[in-house]
Amino acid sequence: MARRTIDIGIDLGTTNSEIACIENGEVKVFKNYLRSEFTPSVVRIDEKGTVIVGRKAYERLVDDEDNTVSEFKRWIGTQQLKVFKASGQKLKAEDLSAEVLKDLKVTAKNYLPDDEINAAVITVPCNFEIVQCEATQRAAKLAGIKYAPLLQEPIAASIAYGFLEKMPKGFWVVYDLGGGTFDVAIMSAKEGRLAVVDHCGDNYLGGKDFDWTIVEGIIYPILKKEYDLPSLGRTKEYGALNAVLKSAAEEAKIELSQRDSVNLTIHALDTIKDKSGRVIDISIPLKRSQYEPLIEDYVDKSIKLFRKTLEEQKLAASDISQLILVGGPTQTPYIRKRLKDEFGINTDYRIDPMTVVAEGAAVFAASQLMPEEFVSKDYSKVSIKLAYNPMTTDINTPVGGNLSPASSGGNLPQKMRMQIKSTSGDWESGMIEVKNNAFYCSVSLREKKINSFKLTLLDEFGNSIPTDPDTFSITQGISVAEPPLTRSIGVELVDGSFDKHLHKGDPLPARGKPKTYRTSVEVLPGQAEGALNIHVYEGESPIANRNRHLGTLKIKGDMVKRAIAENTEVDIVIAVDQSRSVKAEAFIQRLDQNFTNVIEN
Ligand code: ADP
Ligand code: MG
Repeated sequence: MARRTIDIGIDLGTTNSEIACIENGEVKVFKNYLRSEFTPSVVRIDEKGTVIVGRKAYERLVDDEDNTVSEFKRWIGTQQLKVFKASGQKLKAEDLSAEVLKDLKVTAKNYLPDDEINAAVITVPCNFEIVQCEATQRAAKLAGIKYAPLLQEPIAASIAYGFLEKMPKGFWVVYDLGGGTFDVAIMSAKEGRLAVVDHCGDNYLGGKDFDWTIVEGIIYPILKKEYDLPSLGRTKEYGALNAVLKSAAEEAKIELSQRDSVNLTIHALDTIKDKSGRVIDISIPLKRSQYEPLIEDYVDKSIKLFRKTLEEQKLAASDISQLILVGGPTQTPYIRKRLKDEFGINTDYRIDPMTVVAEGAAVFAASQLMPEEFVSKDYSKVSIKLAYNPMTTDINTPVGGNLSPASSGGNLPQKMRMQIKSTSGDWESGMIEVKNNAFYCSVSLREKKINSFKLTLLDEFGNSIPTDPDTFSITQGISVAEPPLTRSIGVELVDGSFDKHLHKGDPLPARGKPKTYRTSVEVLPGQAEGALNIHVYEGESPIANRNRHLGTLKIKGDMVKRAIAENTEVDIVIAVDQSRSVKAEAFIQRLDQNFTNVIEN
């Protein structure tokens, strides 16, 4: 089936990543080869150069950090490199993210063998700036995902609730505690348009900290007493043992979300012994009542940030209609209880907090049209060019189509009728006359649903004629306010000052007004060396190079038709699209020539 909408959503997480898809109006989270819906965002490259992603890489994180890396989302968009010692490979965070995306594609391929998976919605945190968004899109491209609209994580989670449960009202909060990061976002919807009102977070707070408090607060003291392990700690010397302990602690922590007490079993392999040669093999009982005080400070910290965000918006807890919980650690009963006691807000975790972001991304993806060039066409069938809005807040919406004959099959029949039926079975169009090889009708939508329709083309005898496409879908009730620009964007002038074109807070997509400058250098045609460099920066400082350099629009000698003398007028326009990709355009009237560059740094 040729997809008309993107339909695939990816949560590219710091700790774990998930991929989900819309099929017949339903969300499905794909399971990887381990039958797990989440894949650790961990990459390992062994001495042979083999790339390993996911669980198997995660298991080597503590004892072989020379060749294994996690949490690279923290430094995506920087030039930092992870050096894999055994193989000598050096990768940037975007390359590592691309490996995770490729792995998710393999997972998805098992469910969608006929899909190319060259487009997907990818979620990003609210605090991602342009460079991080662009790096995420480069990662997507490296993984063969050529079209990747980005969506903010709390918006994705809210969309999932809106569709799978009920759209929250007024203001609501998304509390997202992940493996290593915490984010809290205040959300609102005006006439169905979702927006992040404010957000705040701690980049070093998450489930991983809980594991280590169990290791250090419970396991170390017991091991030190029972075994000969002098100066046991988080040192390289004890790397292999720590790997076993961290994993046992995490397992126990997760089990404690289900039951009151667990046994922390440590069966270190025979190779891990204490100084006297004894194999470490011990079982430690652990109760919730012992565990909860260990994480109290972390939970307090998250609650403080939550309160601060509310205060900054002059909101009281009673103004918040709903609290949506996102992230693995929010399954901890203690955290749920603390939030309830502190805020008394109706807490919501009906949708799996580990997959809710990917699910929402998929729902959003179902409302995004696939770029025309990606839609593979079946030329053996009658082709229909459909015109409709894939995302609407209306209950009835027009759908039109133009028919053209199959390239193999000659002319279209004289008389044809079209029938449109919703796959849910609760609406059908009746017979629509096809006139001049075109049809038009108004379809009825179910509220807050992805409405899928089947098209049936009939000849005058009632025989059905195969068409491409023969389905389409329309998402009712959702619209997403574009996230505003987080920093101003402008260009550097000759004196080093910063001239803003777009301002912090401008809604996206944004296109600045053209500004006219005069060139300070001469550019001669055909000369590769000489170039007019227009440096684009992001930030608030009046001095350009105190801001972040986004990239350069270069007008080189081999690009110009005629010479550009010094002091020639040049008009510059800067635009940022919804996915925060920045474009600089220059127009030189004297040459009647346009220069455009998608800014890449
Ligand atoms: P991220 O958003 O950073 O990718 P996740 O939402 O996937 O992170 O959360 C990962 C964290 O959730 C890990 O620390 C993991 O141990 C923890 N976790 C997973 N399931 C549970 C559970 N049932 N109870 C408590 N913690 C859990
Ligand atoms: Mg997450």
